[in-house]
Amino acid sequence: MRRTMVAGNWKMHGTCASVVELIDGLRTLTLPGNVDVAVFPPELFIDRVINGLQGASISVGAQNAAIESRQGALTGEISSSQLVDAGCKFVLVGHSERRLILGESDETLNRKFAAVQASGLTPVLCIGETLEQREAGQTLEVVERQLNVVIDEFGIEAFENAVIAYEPVWAIGTGLTASPQQAQDVHAAIRTQLAKKNSEVAQGVRLLYGGSVKAANAVELFSMPDIDGGLIGGASLNADEFGAIIRAAGN
Ligand code: PEP
Repeated sequence: MRRTMVAGNWKMHGTCASVVELIDGLRTLTLPGNVDVAVFPPELFIDRVINGLQGASISVGAQNAAIESRQGALTGEISSSQLVDAGCKFVLVGHSERRLILGESDETLNRKFAAVQASGLTPVLCIGETLEQREAGQTLEVVERQLNVVIDEFGIEAFENAVIAYEPVWAIGTGLTASPQQAQDVHAAIRTQLAKKNSEVAQGVRLLYGGSVKAANAVELFSMPDIDGGLIGGASLNADEFGAIIRAAGN
């Protein structure tokens, strides 16, 4: 049985003051016991958030990790072993903003994915098509290729300890959301693709939907059979809204 997960990607948002406010808001939430909750603050604030959320049943993850798992000479980067030391549990890998704006290649993402797993952290692999690709009818092909990049290198077993987030690029931060059926269709295709290699892995892996999820659309999205929760951007910056999304996932 897959446990539902709701994750908040704070992206490059927050000041010392606003992060303290958000932590305080998160601490006041009453969380359902059947949902795993995680937040992904900017790395600058990870330590503060982990300390601030002690005892709150909210895990903390990083938005990025270096291509090497161990610490060393790599200016500006943070290794996954350092993230473990800080108390992180998850790392986002392959978010479309990193693929498209920062130009992270498949090879780089695979190195990060491997480094994260080698440190004992769980990668949240983000995949999804652009608007152009959807309009050209290439959605399933794109998503399948993005998954195969990982499977071809590490095997299907790589998804025994990973979460997949399907995030159509056209729905991220735009206010446009995939309809529950559109999202379900892609999630079902992902699970079928994985099942061809290993049905146990396919049944066990959590598939999150991301792209303008809010309290107002969360219930419908999360009621779909292959949607195991959400990766939430903008709406995770407001503790009350994030709390309402988590409760929707717990229903
Ligand atoms: C995201 O960046 O992962 C995301 C889903 O953002 P938003 O919810 O703001 O669309």
